[in-house]
Amino acid sequence: VIAVDVGGTKLASGLVDDEGQLTHRERTATPRHEDLDGEQLWEALVAVVDPVAEAAGGRALAVGVGCGGPMTPGGDTVSPLNIPAWRDFPLRDRLADRYGLPAAVENDAKALALAEGWVGAAAGVDDYVAMVVSTGVGGGIVSSGRLLEGAGGNAGHIGHVIVEPDGRRCGCGGRGCLEAEVSGLAIEAITGGPPADASPELRAHVGRLVGRAVASVAALLDLRLAVVAGSVALGYGDAFFDAAQNELDERARISFARGARIVRAGCGDEGPLIGAGAVAIRALSSAP
Ligand SMILES: [Zn+2]
Repeated sequence: VIAVDVGGTKLASGLVDDEGQLTHRERTATPRHEDLDGEQLWEALVAVVDPVAEAAGGRALAVGVGCGGPMTPGGDTVSPLNIPAWRDFPLRDRLADRYGLPAAVENDAKALALAEGWVGAAAGVDDYVAMVVSTGVGGGIVSSGRLLEGAGGNAGHIGHVIVEPDGRRCGCGGRGCLEAEVSGLAIEAITGGPPADASPELRAHVGRLVGRAVASVAALLDLRLAVVAGSVALGYGDAFFDAAQNELDERARISFARGARIVRAGCGDEGPLIGAGAVAIRALSSAP
């Protein structure tokens, strides 16, 4: 299948086989100039997907996409918060038309959750949450082996679990959401510098709040594994993961959540594309 990753900073594509192996990767920076229109962004996207489709030589069965939300259920149209050029952009049909293949579009964090369960740190686990802590905070939850959808396809938005009752204003309109406290954008706003320059104390604080959110999710959903990706979490390394695990140990006390673990995602920088491939394969296997 042809895998496509649409992000605020990069556009990427590759081929994913039925064992989750990724080949023929292409990528480019997401164009960002102010008067960028939707068609120009589309042209930039197909410039990285065309060579991959060509490399497939007619053997690809479907196109799968991981894309920032929000989107309509099923991904018919996408309006990624961090990509203003696309509002109600009909991404799925445009890809299906161009490549003559069935196409499926999914929230990027949910796609990552599929990748981690397929060939990553949650392989063989039926109940887990996968998270991305980078510019924003996203997540996807697998429960009893199924990716949770919710009424509008938005299940898993752990970034808006409240971790500080009197905390910072969140972009969603709420206050004290995890995303408002620990996203890369939040850290920049707090420190006035890039997230990579955060002090050891702040790195541990970010880990603690993520552990706090995971404790609530573990209790709510009867799960014992959180896999975490994203430049902030992975960049902060042990300072982040040790603090997150300590907080989780402290907070997750009910018997079925006790012993919950918070670990690094296993797919590395291939996760978004492997996840997009999983989205395509899932759509094929559920087709009539
Ligand atoms: Zn929020």
